[in-house]
Order: sequence, then structure tokens, then C-alpha cells
Amino acid sequence: MENKQYVYLFTEGNAKMKNLLGGKGANLAEMTGLGIPIPQGFTVTTEACNKYYNDGRVLAQEVKEEIRKAMANIEEVTGKTFGGQTNPLLVSVRSGARASMPGMMDTILNLGLNDETVEVLARETGNERFAYDSYRRFIQMFADVVMEIEKKNFEHIMDHMKEAKGVHLDTELDANDLKELVRKFKEFYSRAKGQEFPQDPEEQLIESVTAVFRSWDNPRANVYRRLNDIPYSWGTAVNVQAMVFGNKGETSGTGVAFSRNPSTGEDKIFAEYLMNAQGEDVVAGIRTPFPIEELNKQMPEVYQQFVSIVDTLEKHYRDMQDMEFTIEEGKLYFLQTRNGKRTAQAALKIAVDLVEEGLNTKEEALLKVDPKQLDTLLHPAFDEAAMQDAQVIAQGLPASPGAATGKIAFTAAEAKERVEKGEKVILVRLETSPEDIEGMIAAEGILTVRGGMTSHAAVVARGMGTCCVAGCGSIVVNEANRTVKAGDKLYTDQDYISLDGSTGNVYGAQIATVDPEISGDFGTFMSWADEVRVLKVRTNSDTPHDTEQAVRFGAEGIGLTRTEHMFFGEDRIPAMREMIVSRTVEARKKALDKILPMQKADFKGIYEALEGRPATIRFLDPPLHEFLPTHESDIVALAKDMEMEVQDLKDIITSLHEFNPMMGHRGCRLAVTYPEIAEMQTRAIIEAALEVRKEKGLNIVPELMIPLVGEVKEMKYIKDIVVRTADSIIKQSGEDMKYSVGTMIEIPRAAITADEIAREAEFFSFGTNDLTQMTFGFSRDDAGNFLKDYYEKKIYEFDPFQKVDQTGVGRLVEIAVELGRKTRPDIKLGVCGEHGGDPSSVEFFHKTGLDYVSCSPFRVPLARLAAAQAQIKFPREKK
Ligand code: PEP
Ligand code: MG
Repeated sequence: MENKQYVYLFTEGNAKMKNLLGGKGANLAEMTGLGIPIPQGFTVTTEACNKYYNDGRVLAQEVKEEIRKAMANIEEVTGKTFGGQTNPLLVSVRSGARASMPGMMDTILNLGLNDETVEVLARETGNERFAYDSYRRFIQMFADVVMEIEKKNFEHIMDHMKEAKGVHLDTELDANDLKELVRKFKEFYSRAKGQEFPQDPEEQLIESVTAVFRSWDNPRANVYRRLNDIPYSWGTAVNVQAMVFGNKGETSGTGVAFSRNPSTGEDKIFAEYLMNAQGEDVVAGIRTPFPIEELNKQMPEVYQQFVSIVDTLEKHYRDMQDMEFTIEEGKLYFLQTRNGKRTAQAALKIAVDLVEEGLNTKEEALLKVDPKQLDTLLHPAFDEAAMQDAQVIAQGLPASPGAATGKIAFTAAEAKERVEKGEKVILVRLETSPEDIEGMIAAEGILTVRGGMTSHAAVVARGMGTCCVAGCGSIVVNEANRTVKAGDKLYTDQDYISLDGSTGNVYGAQIATVDPEISGDFGTFMSWADEVRVLKVRTNSDTPHDTEQAVRFGAEGIGLTRTEHMFFGEDRIPAMREMIVSRTVEARKKALDKILPMQKADFKGIYEALEGRPATIRFLDPPLHEFLPTHESDIVALAKDMEMEVQDLKDIITSLHEFNPMMGHRGCRLAVTYPEIAEMQTRAIIEAALEVRKEKGLNIVPELMIPLVGEVKEMKYIKDIVVRTADSIIKQSGEDMKYSVGTMIEIPRAAITADEIAREAEFFSFGTNDLTQMTFGFSRDDAGNFLKDYYEKKIYEFDPFQKVDQTGVGRLVEIAVELGRKTRPDIKLGVCGEHGGDPSSVEFFHKTGLDYVSCSPFRVPLARLAAAQAQIKFPREKK
């Protein structure tokens, strides 16, 4: 029998034990080692969490036993007794996973209080108010977290009491009020649960630890994990720590601190605190906290010590820290530290500064920025011109930067629903809570009435890169009437508002946005990424505008131009439809003749935007149904254009109906049936290249890509048409232009016969969207409907269309790489499915040895950084 240790004292661990102790636990242990004043305690490991689930959601006896022993140790260290008749020990219970999951897991403070210990505490501290305030908080948190009785029930009871007394602030309730409140809370508890509030501290503790483990699997945590690539199998640890009290009176307080400004990155401590309060008061945003500079006036010595510890921690971790602290009767304690979440702007500034300060190497700095965050830097800001008329209707805190505009939604559920129907919304709340996560993800921006820069809304929005204005106290939100009042104007759910997350301004109208400018730290940081990485980054782009954008973002060429996307426009779709429904070669050629000049003009624009960078242009790959006319008026118009009977056209449309268009007549199959399409596209690609070479002196080597190949003979058939057409055009031009012909690997059969296909294909581009669809056998358009059941049941943890499935789809990529290189050692290899812009997938493709990834323009910087990180973690030889 193995003898595992499930509980570690803070004195037994260190920062390297993050996997076992979770981030918080490992850092508490590390801080203990550093001699920072922290209340002592212990960590119940992530392995205990996994065991809890493996044992069918039961906390094993041996774990309970270890908890008891550790508790005895804490009693000894603190000289206090858990449940004691003198000097009672109270503890906090907090979750702490390997990666921090803000607001997703639950905290319980003041555990160990009961009807007796509360009296002891009151007597020993001579502060009855404090004792009962702590007790009522504990009941409330325990009921909420462990027993799932909603917090608001207790808040209502408290609000009633304040109303009856005619007071506004919690602090205006005296000891007797709080005693009465405790009585009412317990009464409510026993009515709601049919059992008394537990008086045995040990039972309270075991129940709480279990509840933290249970909360690892709540729906909010599951959503957050999927969004942040955190595997379920990691589990969470639980930290049990002796309580210190920030609510013991006016020489006590509590706060949250960042060693640098998490919004701008400025190298200046950013902290907020409240006197006579417990931690939740600061984060919950119910009272608005003070800036830390005030503390220097109130308690200069404590302030000096605070500043010095912050400095020590930042230097030790060599990164910006996010800390919680408490002052108990003039004595300072740190309760936790972790690498702080920050905005993308701040992340870049901090990274560049840390290198300049000599605290980090470039490689370390590169690893500290989450590639997904770069995305937020690149999103639109308000159009200056449109801002001229914009009226500021209110101002809050600039909690998370960016610009957002949308109609008002009052609840998270509503926001989600309206967004699904295609609306853009701003989620407006008094304050947000973890239940709001899905609505927050869906919304363009978040506006809250209460809360500081460290409130839930602010922290979560910053992490997601969603624009957020918090603590906007001047607006009045009436959730029942569904109105927002700003000044004397009333806004409803049909009104637009706009948020500027960098200034905190709220505007009472829809405001146009513009593409962002990037420079400064971004440029410096990205140049480091480019120095390091070996994987090239191209873009998927179908227009000159997007191509220019992508080039500005650092794209090294185009990895995929989807030519069918060029025909969705109102002015072009008729020609495309004509081509599809043509029944004779002549009729089709007529339609293709209309398309040719359009294609050529598009390609010329793209080549010019690329300024000589390579371009892979893919032949038509439309699921046909996307193009067929469905409206009577369109059908009549098309019939008229084509000089045919409406009924005949309808018959053709019916005959083109496919049961499964995604597996139907698309991709290269279209060109097999209608070679004249391949001919026309070759002509457009080659002629455009010749013309741009001549006009602009750009050396263009077009890459013609044949989609959805599954069999080498298919490839050869179309390639022969391409080569014949291209060679004759080039010959006629008298020029000497090179080009290459390759294929996409999107069908499992192509992957496993890649050695054969490579005989004909000069390059492979992995179309991992289709490859995922065909490997799993579920439709990329429909899977969303049932995948959520798979997430819930932990069959899949991630959407395989977002993050490549390395074991299955990834294995096919590896096989194709190996086979392709066997036939053609210098074969060029890339990926152009959505996965090319997903950081963990980029890492996989780097490891697989691909030459490049290709992704949408806005994700190019993200991919550049992900590629650099992959090289730092898994070095590959530079070619
Ligand atoms: C793919 O299948 O991965 C791909 C890039 O092609 P499309 O998304 O156009 O099918
Ligand atoms: Mg495809």
C-alpha cells in the first residue's frame, strides 16, 4: 500500500510544489520560508481532491485524519484551541488550484465560531461587536458555500434590520443588533435546511473542505476551465489558515495589492484597503475602498513594512504580484501572493520593464505573457470623429480597457440569450458574481455600479480581455423595471450605451469604432518573439484590407485565401450562382468569364498588400448549398439572367440538394466534375501575379492549393490542369515565373496516404477544421449543440474545433508529416485551420515540425508569441 501524504503544513512545502499544493498553497509555503508574516496553516492537496472524486465524492477517512493532525499542529503553533473555551482558534478555508481561478471557487472565513466560542471571543477581545460580526459573516458564508443557501437571503435580512434602525452602513449596526442578526441568520438557516447550524468546529471544517472540492466541479468552474485551458484532472487544493482579523476595530483593516498597476503596468504599487473590514468587503465591492497611500497617513510604520514586503515578494518571484493582506490591531499579515492578472497593455509594459530592470531575461519575459491576451490589444477603439458628439453620461473606474458598444442587458442569462440571437449587448449589473460568467463572456462590455478595481467584475473582465467599467456609482439601475438612470435620462434594454474601459467613461449612444494602432512596448516585445521563434506565422485572408491588417500585425504571408468567400457579396453572388446551376460547359464558361476579372482584381489587390510575401490561394471549396438561391425573388432574377424557365431552374436547384453538403460535392470534387473552374482560377491567379510583377516589380511565387484531396489521383488530375494552364499563360507572357501546387490535408485518408499524395503535392497545408470534423465524424456546424453534454460529462474537456485534439487529429498530422517528408524531404508544411491561432495548438504544431501556422489577422501576434514560447519550451533547430 502506498502511503501518500494528503496534507502539508505551510512549513513543509515550497513554490515548486504547485501541482500538489495548488498556486496559493505553494506560495504560502514559500512565503513562510521567506519569513514573511503570514498566519500559519496547512494545505489539503490536489491529490486529495482527485481522491475525493475517485472515491465517489467522499472525503476519505485518512484525509480527515491528516487534517485533524495538521489542525493540532496549528493549535500548537498559534497557542490557540480549535473550539476552545479560551483563546479559540478560528480558520479560513480557501480553494487554491494550480492556476488561479478568480472568483470561481469559494472562501469561508471565521470557521470555528459557534454559540460558545463567539462568547469567548467577545470576552477575550473585549469587543462583542467584532465577535458577533465575525459570527454572522461565517454563518452567511458557510450557508452559501457549503449548504448552497443563496447569500442574498441573508443580505435581505440584514437590509431589513438596517432599514428598521434607519441606518445605511453595516458598521452602524451595534453589538446587540449583530447578536440579533446572528439569531435571525441561524433561524433562517434551520428553516432552509431543516437542521441546526452546525456547532461542532470539526464538522464545520470537514464540511467546508469537502465543499471546496465539490466546487471544483460546479458549472462556473467548468466554463472557466474550458476558456482557460485548465484540465479537470488538475483538481484543486484547499488551504486552511489561522484567521487574523481586519474587523477588530479602527486599527485593523484589510486590503488587496498589486506590486505594479495591473491596468497600465506602471511601476507603482497599486493597492486598496478598508479599515475595520474583512477581505470579502474589499473584493465584493459593497464598500468603496481607499487607495493605499492613505495608510501612510494612518499607520506610517505598517505602511513602510507593507511596501518593503511587496518589494521583497516582487523581487523573489520576479514578476508583478497580486497580494492580500490584513492588519490586525496594528500588526500586518500577508494572506497570499500570486503572479498578478493584468491587462494586455500592462502585461507588455511589465515584461519590457522587467527585462530592462534586469529582473527577467527576454525568454522569461516572453513566457510571462499569455498569448491570448494580445488579442485584446488589437481590438478596436472608438472612432475619434464619432467621439466629437459623444456625451459622457457617467463615469466609473477604468477596470479593463477597450471600447464596447451595445444595447443594455440586465442579467447574465439575458445577455447570453440576446447575443446568441445576434445582438450586441453591454451587461449592466449592480455588481457581478461568478454565476454571471457566461453573460460576461457573451457581452461586448461590462458596467457595474459598485466595486473597485479589484472587484469580481474588474478581475474577471481583465482576464478575459473584455472592456469593463466598474464602480459607476452615479447611475441607478432598476432591475425590476429594466431601466438605467444616468443624470435625468432613462435608458431601457433597447437603448445603446458605450463604454471606454481605459478612461471609465460611459456614453449614452452607439459609437463607431476603429482599428487599433500598435507601437512601443508591443513592438519591442514582439521583436523578441520574432528573434526566438522558428515557426513562421502566416494569415488567413480573403481581402486586400485584411491582408494589410495582417501584415501590420506581422504576418509573413498568406496561408489560406478562401476564394469562395470572395463571392458572398451582393454584386458577385449572382455570377457564382449562375456558375453553379449551369448545366452545360458553355453556360458555365460564360459564368466563369464573368467571375475571372473579379478574381483577378482580388488577387492583384492581395499580392500588392503582401508586398512580395508568399500567398497560398485555395481553389473553390464551397459547400454548394451556401450559394444556392432560396428566395423566390432571387430564383426568378437568376432565371431571367440565364434566360431560362423558373421551373427549370427550380428543378436544377432541387437536383443539387445534398443530404450532407459538408461531405458532398465540394473542394476538389467540384473541379473534378467541372475542370473549367480550376482552369479559370489558375488563370486568375497566374495572370494577376504576372501583372503585379510587371507593375510593381514584386517577385511573386503563387502557391495554388487544391482542397479536400483524399486520393493522389484526384490531386494529379487537377494538378495537370493547373500546370497545363499556368505553363501556357507564363510561356505566352514571355516571363519566367515560378509557382507551386500543393494540397490541403483535411481528410483522414489524405493523412494516411500522404506519402503518395506528396508525389504530386509540393506542399501540405493541414486543414484541421475539416480534419477534425472528419476524424471525429461530427459536423463542425452542429457539434456545438451536443458537445456541451460531452463537457458536462467530462468525455471531452475542450472544443476540438478550437484546440487541436493531439491524440487523434494530431496523430494524423504527425503521420502525414512523416509520410510526406519520406517522399519529398523538402515538402513545405503548414496549418491553416482555426487551430493555427490557438496557443496550445501552435505549440503542438511547432513540436510536430511544421514550417508555419496560418490564422486570422487579429490572431497573428498571438501566434507569433505562442510560437516563441513553444521554441523556448521545446527548442527546435533553426533552419
Ligand atoms: C479547414 O478545413 O481546416 C480549412 C482551413 O478549410 P475550411 O475551413 O475553409 O473548410
Ligand atoms: Mg476545409
